[in-house]
Order: sequence, then structure tokens, then C-alpha cells
Amino acid sequence: MKHPIRKKWGQNFLQDPNIIRKIVDVVNPIEEDVILEIGPGKGALTFELTPKVKQLIAVEIDPLLVEYLNKRKQSNLVIHQADILDFGFNQMEYKYLIVGNLPYNITSPIIFKLLENTNWNKAVFMVQNEVAERMSAKPGNKIYGRLSVMVQAFAKVQYHFKVPPGVFFPQPDVNSAVISLTPIRRNIDDRLLFTEIVRTAFGQRRKKIRNTLKSYLVENKLEQIGDLRPEDLAVSDFIDISNSCKEL
Ligand code: SAM
Repeated sequence: MKHPIRKKWGQNFLQDPNIIRKIVDVVNPIEEDVILEIGPGKGALTFELTPKVKQLIAVEIDPLLVEYLNKRKQSNLVIHQADILDFGFNQMEYKYLIVGNLPYNITSPIIFKLLENTNWNKAVFMVQNEVAERMSAKPGNKIYGRLSVMVQAFAKVQYHFKVPPGVFFPQPDVNSAVISLTPIRRNIDDRLLFTEIVRTAFGQRRKKIRNTLKSYLVENKLEQIGDLRPEDLAVSDFIDISNSCKEL
């Protein structure tokens, strides 16, 4: 099919059967699974995954691609033409899988939205390599930052493999990588406060947290960790700060 490539929707289509197979292996679907696919495009992953599961629900913004996919429809494939950022994830059956070779310009908003409601089991995404590295970075690493803490507070992140530009058409300018997220339950008393503390701390990442977070830190925390910088704090430290925070 001749299809105009829409850059604004981050359209880089996977062409390499080997990479497609490797992604399917990471998803590791079973017959009872329900999968939500974000941005199916021309169906590189969709048509591999659909025969292996109970149902695949695909959300694609581009009406021309939706028309194309509808012509090749399988009985257990449901296609919605919609913006994934407007999609009601709470309408999904409890515990589904999420898969997507994500449009890179909206990777973070998609991931933040998914972390708001972790009614899913596992997510497997292709993202820009640099973003994959930031999401999975550990404390002490210079790329460990707000994204690392926010994602790792709600999910276990696994970096699977790097993907070069040549396996896409058109080729992106950057390397990509496949990651997976598995939700974890942590005791965060006030999610908004936690988010605000992480944002404030990394807003001035070279400063000691006794300065950036002074209005939040109770006395004993100030003593324990006040001289550290945000990149030295584990996710559990940020949760601790937020749960033991001063009444403001
Ligand atoms: N999955 C296909 C593949 O691997 O070849 C296409 C991946 S391409 C990187 C991203 C896809 O997401 C495109 O099909 C694009 O039209 C779609 N897309 C972009 N923004 C979207 C949005 N806000 N909601 C839903 N789909 C979107």
C-alpha cells in the first residue's frame, strides 16, 4: 500500500522479521491474553500477535492506517481510531498486556498515563534508546533522573535489546530499544506529593537535597540524607521522604 508517511505521528514502520520475532518473544503471549496495542501502523506486530491471543485491541490515530488494517481484519482484532492519550484505559478488562512501537514524540506522556492506572500485567515497548536507558537507570548514574524515579516507583523496568535505525522505514535518526515494564505495588501515601518532590529535587539536580527539599524534609531525614544530591537517592528514599513529609 502507498501510504503518506506522517512525521507528526512518529511513523517509522518496522520492516525486519527478526526484530518483530524478538519483540513477540519478549511479549511471550498465551492464548488467554488480551493485548492493547498502541499505534499498530501497518500491523507489523499486530498480525504476528493477534493469532496467538484471545483478543488484540489496537488504537491508531491515523485514519488511513485504520482503513488499511480494517481490510486485513481478523475476528479477534478490534481497531479503534483514536488518540491513545484520550483512550480510557479503565474500560479495559483487568490484567491485559500492552504492546507498542511507540511514537517517540509522545513516549513520556503515554508512559505517565499508563502508570496512573496499573490495571495491566506487563507492557512491552520500543522507545528511543536514550529514553530506555533513562527509564532503567540506577542511582549514581548521570542519566538517572525524574523519568527513572517516576517509572521505577510504579514498575519494574527491564531493558531487553537495542534496535538500529536500519530496521525501520523510514529510518529514524536515533537508535531504539525494547523495554518491558511490570507494575509493582509500593506504599506511596500521596502520589501527587511524591510527584512534586521528585520534580522539585531534579529541577536543580546539582544541588544538595537539604536545599531543594528543605520545606519537605523532617529533621531526621535532613540529617540522614540532606547532603546527598537527587541522583544519589534510591526510589525508596524519595518514597520515604514523601511519606514522612512535614505538614506544609
Ligand atoms: N507498530 C507499527 C510498526 O512497528 O511498524 C508502527 C509504529 S510507528 C513508530 C508509531 C505508530 O503510532 C504510527 O502508526 C502512528 O500513526 C501511531 N500514532 C502516533 N501518535 C498516536 C497517538 N497519539 N495515538 C495512537 N496512535 C498514534
